[in-house]
Amino acid sequence: IVHWSPFIQQFKRRKYPWIQLAGHQGNFQAGGPGAILKKFDKKEHRSFNKLMNDVLRPYVPEYRGESEKDGDCYIQLQDLLCDFEAPCVMDIKMGCRTYLEEELSKAREKPTLRGDMYKKMIEVDPTAPTEEEHNQKAITKPRYMQWRDDMSSSSEMGFRIEGIRKSDGNQVKNFKTTKDKTSVKSCLKQFVEENPEIIIKYLRRLKAIRATQEDSPFFKSHEIIGSSLLFVHDKCGHASIWMIDFGKTVPLPESVSVSHRNKWIEGNHEDGYLMGIDSLINIFEELEVE
Ligand code: ATP
Ligand code: MG
Ligand code: MG
Repeated sequence: IVHWSPFIQQFKRRKYPWIQLAGHQGNFQAGGPGAILKKFDKKEHRSFNKLMNDVLRPYVPEYRGESEKDGDCYIQLQDLLCDFEAPCVMDIKMGCRTYLEEELSKAREKPTLRGDMYKKMIEVDPTAPTEEEHNQKAITKPRYMQWRDDMSSSSEMGFRIEGIRKSDGNQVKNFKTTKDKTSVKSCLKQFVEENPEIIIKYLRRLKAIRATQEDSPFFKSHEIIGSSLLFVHDKCGHASIWMIDFGKTVPLPESVSVSHRNKWIEGNHEDGYLMGIDSLINIFEELEVE
């Protein structure tokens, strides 16, 4: 249980501790009215610029340009929380893998061994490392990420829960081994507190996002890795979902096209994003009739 907030946000005479469910602590700051600052990243910056001219624009936070603070570069984004009252928030990381193909090939050419990732691995499963990895007390980053994808629901369902903030204010992040459909579904059920009004709104929004993605030139032409869907609702019955985090979203090579549904085989660039949204919709539809 974590009660940590990176800063106090102030908007429309309201003041609230901002909620950050993933990423590094220092990456976010308060921005202009109703906006936040996120540390500048070239890939993310390029993606937001294109998204502002794509059919997906209504489903991503509004991009409000670059800015500088204390010598660091940031992008300014719409704060998705500012129209909610004490919101419940959930970050779902989409796709069946969370590392780029280029990260794999780089690690193969020039492997850097990570002792910190070895430690994180044995904390969850002491039997996971190979004999060689035990001897060197370190693993490569793609090895760690591949293992995370397999331990969680990512590889099989095309998404995983990264973090949830519930209505009582508690934040939960220990979903590393939440893998099978039954346990994922029970987490989602708790998150929506079995409120039919919220379930219907989320379902409608998920379907609108999927339909728009299937039409989007941006979506067709990018490999979308490590991106999330941010779910937000509150007790007034407001509920919505946005696509966030484009730090690992890259244009596909000219000759490559992807379905976002087919299985990934190294080299085909498939990310499993639509497979993940299909499984999410399937679970929410089950919750709807329960
Ligand atoms: P990582 O790559 O480790 O997931 P990151 O540094 O790229 O982290 P994001 O994933 O973009 O950061 O965001 C981290 C968290 O911050 C999200 O889980 C969400 O809680 C919050 N967040 C991000 N963008 C917004 C936004 N525009 N409005 C409200 N909350 C946001
Ligand atoms: Mg993220
Ligand atoms: Mg990121």
